[in-house]
Amino acid sequence: MDKHHFYRDTWAEIDLDKISQNIKSFKKHLPDKKIMAVVKANGYGHGAYQIAREALESGAEWLAVALLDEALALRKQGITAPILVMNRVRPEYVNLAAENEISITVFQKDWLVEAETYLMDTSYQPLNIHLKIDTGMGRVGVNDENELYAITQYMNQSALFHLEGVFTHFATADEWESALFEKQRKKFIKYINLLQEWGIKPSLIHSANSAAALRKVEGPFNLVRLGISMYGLAPSGELKKDLPFSLEEAFSLHSQLIHVKKLMPGDTVSYGATYTAKGEEWVGTLPIGYADGWQRRLSPGAFVLINGERMPIIGRICMDQCIVRLPEKMSVGEVATLIGGQKDKRIEMDEIAGIAKTINYEIPCLISARVPRVYVKNGRISENMNVILNF
Ligand SMILES: *Cc1c(COP(=O)(O)O)cnc(C)c1O
Repeated sequence: MDKHHFYRDTWAEIDLDKISQNIKSFKKHLPDKKIMAVVKANGYGHGAYQIAREALESGAEWLAVALLDEALALRKQGITAPILVMNRVRPEYVNLAAENEISITVFQKDWLVEAETYLMDTSYQPLNIHLKIDTGMGRVGVNDENELYAITQYMNQSALFHLEGVFTHFATADEWESALFEKQRKKFIKYINLLQEWGIKPSLIHSANSAAALRKVEGPFNLVRLGISMYGLAPSGELKKDLPFSLEEAFSLHSQLIHVKKLMPGDTVSYGATYTAKGEEWVGTLPIGYADGWQRRLSPGAFVLINGERMPIIGRICMDQCIVRLPEKMSVGEVATLIGGQKDKRIEMDEIAGIAKTINYEIPCLISARVPRVYVKNGRISENMNVILNF
C-alpha cells in the first residue's frame, strides 16, 4: 500500500479490529438477534464504506443509513447487503431505491399512493418497506391505530409493495429508570399484535438502538440497530457505568508538532491574545483547527497527549491550527494524540464531548472530511481515505 495518500500532519485512525470486536460482543450478548449496522453520517464520521464492510464481515446482516444518497453511495462502492434508509425518501425517487434493492421507511398513506404511480414504471418490484411506528419519540412514524390500519390495508392490496419490517425508535433507552421507555415498548408490542390480528406478519421487527440492545429490551423483536456502541462508545454516562461487556473505541485523532518555540513572560498566543505566558514557556503548534471539527470551544479545556503526557491546548483554536503548552523543548514532528491513547494515558471521546458540552456522538461526526482517515485491520494499516483528493 502506498502510504502517501495524504500530505497533511493530521489524521484520524479507525481501528476496524475494534469494530469487529464490538459486533462480536453483541452477537454473544444477543445470540438470537440479527444485527443492523447503522452507518449513517459517513459511519458517525468513521467512514461508512469501511465500517459497513467490517461490520458485515463480523456478523452484521443489515446496514442502515439516514439518506437515500448514503445508501446509493454504498451500492456504488459494491456493498450488496440489505440496506434500510431510515428517513423519509421522496416518492418520486422510489424507483432509485427499488432498482438498487434499498429498503425504505414509510409512515404515510399518501406516500404510498404517490409512490405507486412511480413504481409502475419500473420492473424492480415490489419495493421493500419498513413501516415506522411513532411510539413516543415524536419525530416521524404512524402514531394512530386507524392510520396503521389504513396504511397496512393499502399496502396489502398493492403488489408493488412488500412489508418487510416494522420498527420504532426509543427516546430514552439510555436512561435506566424511564417511564417513557416502558410506555414506548408496550405501545409497540400492542401495534405488532394488532398487525398480527389483521394477518400481517413482517419478517423483521425491530426497536432497539444501542442503548436498548445493551439493556436487552424485551419483546418479539428479531433485529437490533447498532450505531454508537458498534463504534465503541457508550450511549450515555448512565449506561456506561453498567455495561454488560466492554466497548472498544475505534476512533482516535492525531496530529504532529509543526513548530516549537519558547515564549517569554508576557508573550501572548493566538487570536484575541487570550493566553499570556507567565514565565518562560515552551509551546508547540498543531495543524488542526475548527475547520477540521476541532471546535473552538475546546480551548481552554482540552488536552493532547505527547510522549504519553497530557498537555493543555492554550489560546484560541484557529481554523487550521492550535497551540499547546509543552513541559520542555520538543521536536517538530512529535505525534500529538487529541483523542485516543498514548502509553498508559487516554483521552476518551467522552472527555472531549464533556468539554464541548455535547454528547460523544457529535464529536466524530464533526471531524470534517478534510481530516484523512487511516484504517487499521489485523493490527496493521490497511487503507487510507482522503476525501479532498478523492482517494
Ligand atoms: C441513528 C439511529 C439508530 C442508532 O442509534 P445509536 O444510539 O447510535 O445506536 C437507530 N435507529 C434509528 C432510527 C436511528 O436514527
